[in-house]
Amino acid sequence: METESPVLQESLENTFGSNVFNDAATKTRLPKHVYKMLRKTIDEGLPLDPAVADIVANAMKDWAIEKGATHFTHWFQPMNGITAEKHDSFISPTTDGRIIMEFSGKELIKGEPDASSFPSGGLRATFEARGYTAWDCTSPAFIKDNTLCIPTAFCSYTGEALDKKTPLLRSMEALSKQAIRILRLLGNTKTTRVTTTVGPEQEYFIIDKSLYAKRLDLMLTGRTLFGAKPPKGQELEDHYFGNLKDRIANFMTELDRQLWKLGVLAKTKHNEVAPAQHELAPIFSTANIATDHNQLVMETMKKVANRLDLVCLLHEKPFAGVNGSGKHNNWSMSTNDGQNLLEPGKTPHDNEQFLLFLAAIIQAVDEYADILRVATANPGNDHRLGANEAPPAIISIFLGEQLTGILEQIEKGIAKSSKNGGELKLGVITLPALPKDSTDRNRTSPFAFTGNKFEFRMVGSSASIAEPNTVLNTIVAEILSRIADRLEKTKEIDTEVQNIVTEIVKRHKRIIFNGNNYSEDWVKEAEERGLPNIKSMVAAIPSLISENAIALYEKHGVLNKAEMHSRYEIFLEAYAKTINIEAMTMLDMAKRQILPASLEYTGKIAATLSSLKTVSADSSTAEKLLTELALTIDSFGKNIETLETVLARNGSSNDVLKHAEYYRDVVFKAMGTLRISGDKLETMVDAKIWPLPTYADLLFRI
Ligand code: ADP
Ligand code: MG
Repeated sequence: METESPVLQESLENTFGSNVFNDAATKTRLPKHVYKMLRKTIDEGLPLDPAVADIVANAMKDWAIEKGATHFTHWFQPMNGITAEKHDSFISPTTDGRIIMEFSGKELIKGEPDASSFPSGGLRATFEARGYTAWDCTSPAFIKDNTLCIPTAFCSYTGEALDKKTPLLRSMEALSKQAIRILRLLGNTKTTRVTTTVGPEQEYFIIDKSLYAKRLDLMLTGRTLFGAKPPKGQELEDHYFGNLKDRIANFMTELDRQLWKLGVLAKTKHNEVAPAQHELAPIFSTANIATDHNQLVMETMKKVANRLDLVCLLHEKPFAGVNGSGKHNNWSMSTNDGQNLLEPGKTPHDNEQFLLFLAAIIQAVDEYADILRVATANPGNDHRLGANEAPPAIISIFLGEQLTGILEQIEKGIAKSSKNGGELKLGVITLPALPKDSTDRNRTSPFAFTGNKFEFRMVGSSASIAEPNTVLNTIVAEILSRIADRLEKTKEIDTEVQNIVTEIVKRHKRIIFNGNNYSEDWVKEAEERGLPNIKSMVAAIPSLISENAIALYEKHGVLNKAEMHSRYEIFLEAYAKTINIEAMTMLDMAKRQILPASLEYTGKIAATLSSLKTVSADSSTAEKLLTELALTIDSFGKNIETLETVLARNGSSNDVLKHAEYYRDVVFKAMGTLRISGDKLETMVDAKIWPLPTYADLLFRI
């Protein structure tokens, strides 16, 4: 292995963030007082003075033009889960027929894209179709494709959120507010803001572009709709952390280079469990920036792969029978004076604080498991959750033996502290150092405490992390607010904290599970414990419009009732549309590729058979094959008809839930049946005639 030369290292230090209008760029390019005002806006969430905005916009424009940018865009995250941009050039005509480059504070702060073509659920009917984008100055602007991208939130004209960013920002505010209340009650006078920190580990597949181009299913749906199991899969487990093939290594190097320029703290890269599967983990940042960066990571992965004649698949389950991809959402809370609230402390007072925040999370996850489940629901994740390779659809918390033991002692209230033999009190105990080592970690848990943060592992690989973090922030804010309400009523803070933690452990310990989440036994045990096991996206979504969820989101100003109903509709519609596209794609491949190839091969065998017969040779092998082919083709044909029939009946319901249920229970099922006979044909038909690259081609030919 070559080590990086000092010259290269130095140039990396210079290029990192070179395409970002980051704090350093802001500082050097803005007058001191303007910089200070902007900083105040960013750090304290204060509104920005329009006069300041003009100066910032101008500085941003000069910086961007020096970097070769000609356009700017308000970059936003509509409800379809990807990012949207509409580019405007900086040019402005002068009276003498020339142009000057202009960018005003108004253009920086507010944009007016036509909202009518973005999913808005019921909101479009209820409110105006027009929408606007508002600058989110807490996430720095950056340059991509010669365009200055300004991170923004996207709302309807009447202020309803039409995107994933707005509720995330609101939830961060809510969490900060409630966490500060608690910190004050515990005697902290310094901290003025608490932010959620997130480090999302991104899993993905890389395959060869020329093979991808031969698969309509991958091109249109991101996953294979047909494909027989290859002779070799992941059973040897020889891919995980294995050495990198040259093309993959090149891809990863170029990916890092591009991401670093965008200021993304890409840190770790390695091969994953499945063949052709890999992972990238960044260093964590605030939930807001982490969300923007994760979108950039996904986008850059696709672009860089394409340039190298590769394709990056972000779908949760591109290949049936092979591990799917997730996104481990590492989450914690951090104070603006640098304290991680989930870091067990060194002093008893720190421990009291740690255990209180920990207890709040335990209660939040137990009480709002259904809402947390919604945040992981997408059509792709339905293939993954509970498929013996990813956490099940049952939410539980892993704390590890040690921490669980401590909570059990607290619950019993009878444990004696070693020194004075007195009762174990939160305010006086010292916690042992908890293991942060990844080796002995439970990797099957959907929500695992990993020493100083929680790792939420149910999130799908293609999903925006805005939603899971919005939910986490909001449910934790809610429990913190209830705790603060109680603590505000007493002078005996330590005793009351002790009572609260004890009560929470008693009431919510059912959510704690340190065993193997992949086992069948756990499914049964979880049921006995009364934990929900919500198996599909369609079953999960209705929790969004439950009275409980609406009350929660409205109380913390994260989403209102209309916004939640709109999301409910958007998600269910998206589900039905996704399955519809998949079904149509399957039919296309079945009728125009698989069936013709199978018939062609059958014709060949029939011809062979008759020539064998003319010479009276033994023809039993050919005969058997012919019969088997004819039978399989017949059932394949019938399955095509069935899928066509059920698809034709699809529009029967105006109710979005019923409509989505129909796609899940009827269409999706018919697709499964069609696939079985199609995959069987793949195992019989001559490889030279078979029209599709196989799983072995896709997974091993890099
Ligand atoms: P592993 O899970 O493989 O042991 P790490 O513990 O280093 O790896 O972290 C995994 C991810 O969690 C990384 O993206 C890391 O930046 C992130 N992370 C670490 N600390 C925090 C934190 N306090 N808040 C949020 N994310 C964190
Ligand atoms: Mg992890």
